[in-house]
Amino acid sequence: MSLFEVRGLRRVYRSSRQDVIALESLDLTVHAGQRLGIVGESGSGKSTLVRLMAALDRPTAGTVMFDGLPVTGVPERRLGFLRSRVQMVFQDPRGSLDPRMRARDIVAEPLVSPIVRRELGEFDRAQRVREVLDEVGLPPDAGDRYPHEFSGGQRQRIAIARALAPNPDVLIADEAVSALDVSVRAQVLNLLMRLVDDRGLTLIFVSHDLSVVRHLCPDAVVLQAGRIVEAGPTSALFSQPSHEYTARLVAAIPRFRSRL
Ligand code: ADP
Ligand code: MG
Repeated sequence: MSLFEVRGLRRVYRSSRQDVIALESLDLTVHAGQRLGIVGESGSGKSTLVRLMAALDRPTAGTVMFDGLPVTGVPERRLGFLRSRVQMVFQDPRGSLDPRMRARDIVAEPLVSPIVRRELGEFDRAQRVREVLDEVGLPPDAGDRYPHEFSGGQRQRIAIARALAPNPDVLIADEAVSALDVSVRAQVLNLLMRLVDDRGLTLIFVSHDLSVVRHLCPDAVVLQAGRIVEAGPTSALFSQPSHEYTARLVAAIPRFRSRL
């Protein structure tokens, strides 16, 4: 079953100096349960694409459908069906976690939306927060602490816990491990892999680093200058890249990272 249907997506960022065409005529289908990597060099349009899929931005043209319903051109109050089912984890937990909030309140954030609030009472909410903090491997007292009291890897675990709190179907990770040291990165990747397995999540994993995608995603699309230039099984992209740009991305992988 196809979960996301992206058709003819175009996003132009307009400014007084110049217009930037970030995405052009982009089509993409993501199936339920799929683990899809979105790769491409910096500036190729990866974040623009996933932000549009998560309805955090509006396209210049084209449509995004989620589970048969349009996401584009729909007012926020009618996006409830998407908000709890699709969750994102970003690259920089410093920027995405409010420094003035305790971890427990950060994780509870997606649970206080009007839709989820109806489903969960306060007691169940607190319970859910404890469960997901435990699920991402943080100690029981983690909820009391503030973001600066955690390491980078732990902060990313908080961001993952927040994403899991509303029991989403889809996890979109945008460079979620790119800012982490190599050893910490491996731990967080293992955690992500386990969670996706245990919960049967659909994973959309964005990275400029093909070696990371190879370990998580059986399928991948390659973005260059706002267009998909190649798509298919990740193993085939590695062994027989049909596009010169993909070949360059593969060749750019340092050896030590390809063993990650
Ligand atoms: P990636 O995530 O692959 O690095 P982005 O989607 O962030 O790529 O960016 C694609 C292009 O759009 C780049 O040229 C970038 O500079 C430009 N861009 C992204 N966001 C904005 C913005 N808010 N305003 C203007 N240009 C932007
Ligand atoms: Mg990006």
